[in-house]
Amino acid sequence: MFCIKCGRQIPDDAVFCPACGATQGDQMPQAIAPNQPAAWKKPVSPEEDALAGSILTWGILGLAFSATVILGIIFSAIGLSKARRFQETYGPLHHRAKVGRILSLVGLIVSLVMILFWTVYGIIIAHAVNLIKEAGERGHSYYSGSYGWRT
Ligand SMILES: [Zn+2]
Repeated sequence: MFCIKCGRQIPDDAVFCPACGATQGDQMPQAIAPNQPAAWKKPVSPEEDALAGSILTWGILGLAFSATVILGIIFSAIGLSKARRFQETYGPLHHRAKVGRILSLVGLIVSLVMILFWTVYGIIIAHAVNLIKEAGERGHSYYSGSYGWRT
C-alpha cells in the first residue's frame, strides 16, 4: 500500500509510514470492517423467526377484532406478551416483531376506545327504544303524557 500522507510505498500492515511517520489511519477501519457484517448478520433461528411471525399475526388479529373489544384486548395482549418474551429471549425486536408489537398496541388502544363507542351506542339505542315505547304508550294511553307501565 501507499502512505496516506507522502504516498510512498510502505508495507501493507504498516501502522506508521517508515518514511514520514504519518499514522496510517485508514488502515484500521479497513482491517476491522470485514468482520463487522459477520457480527451483524447473526443468523436468525427458526424459533426466533416463528415467534416474530406469531407476534405479527396476533397484532393483526388484535387490531382486526378490536371492534369486538374483548377479543381485541385478548389478541393484542397475546401479541404484546409474545413481544416481551421475544425481547427477553432474542434482544431488540426486528422488523416483523416490531410491526407486530405496534399493531398489538394499536389494537389494544382501539379496543379500549371501542368500549366508549359501544357504551354511547348502547345509550342511544336504549333512548331510541324508550322513545318508541313512549310514543306507543301515548297513542294507546287514556292519560296523555303518561310514563311507566300501563295497568
Ligand atoms: Zn509517509
